[in-house]
Parts: sequence; C-alpha cells; structure tokens
Amino acid sequence: MQIITSAESLAPVVSNARQHGKSVSFVPTMGALHDGHMSLVRIAHEQSDFVVVSIFVNPLQFGANEDFEEYPRTLQEDAEKLSAANVDVLFAPDVKDVYPHGNQITQHAGSVGETFEGKIRPGHFDGMLTVVARLFDLVRPDISVFGNKDAQQLFLIRQMVENSNHRWNAMQVVGAPIIREEDGLAMSSRNRYLSETERELAQRISRALRAAEATQGDAEARLTAAEQVMATAPAVRLDYVALINPATFEPIEAGFVGRALLIIAAQVGGTRLIDNLSISI
Ligand code: AMP
Repeated sequence: MQIITSAESLAPVVSNARQHGKSVSFVPTMGALHDGHMSLVRIAHEQSDFVVVSIFVNPLQFGANEDFEEYPRTLQEDAEKLSAANVDVLFAPDVKDVYPHGNQITQHAGSVGETFEGKIRPGHFDGMLTVVARLFDLVRPDISVFGNKDAQQLFLIRQMVENSNHRWNAMQVVGAPIIREEDGLAMSSRNRYLSETERELAQRISRALRAAEATQGDAEARLTAAEQVMATAPAVRLDYVALINPATFEPIEAGFVGRALLIIAAQVGGTRLIDNLSISI
C-alpha cells in the first residue's frame, strides 16, 4: 500500500493505475477506522481493481462547538488495517493540500441540507460536500463508496453528483449497508467517546428502530413505538425520529406506501449518534 500525503503525488499514481486498464474506486473517511469502514473497502475491492481510501478530518464540516479538536486520530493503526485489507493507496492529505486557497465553502446542500442533521449542525453539509467534491476532483474515481449509516449525507452526495453536469464523468456512487455491534449499536468512530454506562444506554437507538419496524400500523404508530423506547432512557436525548421518503429525504406524506427510511438522532452524554433503518409502510 502506498501512503500519499500530497495532492500532487496522488494524480500520477491514479493515472498510472488507469493506464494499466484498472478501474479505480474511492472510499473517503475521517479515519479512526472500524469494521463499518472496512466493509466499504471490501465493497470497493469487489467493484474495482484499484482502491484508494482517504483519511482527512475536514475542519469545514465541524461547527464551532463540535469535536474537531478531539476527533480521534489514529493514523498508524488505520494504515495497518488498510494495508492488511490490500488497499492500494491511503491518501492522507494536509488541510493546505485539500484547501490550497483557504477553507472556503464551494458546495451548497440546498434545502435538504437544512433539515434533520443540517438543522442541528448548520453548515455541516456544505462543508461535507465541499470536501467530497474536492476529493473527487483529486482522485477522479470510477466508483465511490459511502455508508448508508449517514443517509442524509449519501442523499446529498448523490444529488451533488447528479447535478454536477458530469464533472466526475460517469462516476457511480455506491451505498453500503450499516455495520453494527453485536448489541445493535451502529458502528461509529464516535462510539469510543461513550462510557460503559452510556454505551449501554446507546443501545436504545437501534432498539427504537427495531420497535418501529415490528409495529403494525401507519407512520404515526411506528414513530410512537420508537419514541416509547427512547422515553425509557431519558438520559438519551432524542434529537429527532422521522420517517422519510428516500427519494426526496422529506417526511412521508399520508398514504405513502413502499419503503420509507426511519431516521433517528440522539445525544448520549456529550456524544451525538445517528442511525436509520429502511422499513416497509
Ligand atoms: P466517517 O469516517 O465517519 O466520515 O465515515 C466514512 C464512511 O464510512 C462514510 O461513508 C460512512 O457512512 C461510513 N460508515 C460509518 N459508519 C459505518 C457503519 N457502521 N457501517 C457502514 N458504513 C459506515
């Protein structure tokens, strides 16, 4: 595995792979890698010949009171995991390589960027899309792989690519299933912030999703079932739970039939966690 830290050195390596007839896939991450990230790497291998993984903690997507400084940085361990998984390139650039002209927002998430996660984290999605667009420009992959765990993020990335006028040619965006701990908690780099007690409480989030799935009835009955599970642990502060239409990322309307996405976000201690489940309505 090659570890590349400058934008300049990345381009010739990727072009060389392409000249050898290889298709290139790309998995962007912020590091502190867990099995969820590694599942994206496996999908990337299945769907391409040359896998590039980036690790970059993007200052533009953190709010002033968020955990940018504390965000776990474990580059050595991450590099070992990626090398063992036969990744071809680990791209770990500096802020000045990613933003040579300063940290400026170049992408706007629009109205869906202001709901749910975007409402609680103003500017987050503009920052996220800005870095993803820049990384796409640098890597120019044929395929990029993202987790369904960050469903709103994935929706907005697909929207950006669709509206980009083929800026990244025919690049395909692949969504990957959520990988969970044995007790159901969705894996996240932020889970390591949780104390043992908080870790136990955090199980409520995936339990709430499963309770809604198991409930017969309309959207309201499903949401009530999820809220009831969350109410059993008042220490877990529910930010939102909603049933959305995956085609629009807007709450489903009365009479909706089909697969809806149940999305949830909650705070356990100082840690924000998100999760979702696709359910039939
Ligand atoms: P992050 O490092 O948090 O920016 O995540 C990098 C990528 O990994 C994103 O596409 C996430 O959606 C994905 N990801 C994070 N957690 C999981 C998980 N538990 N299962 C599958 N994908 C995940």
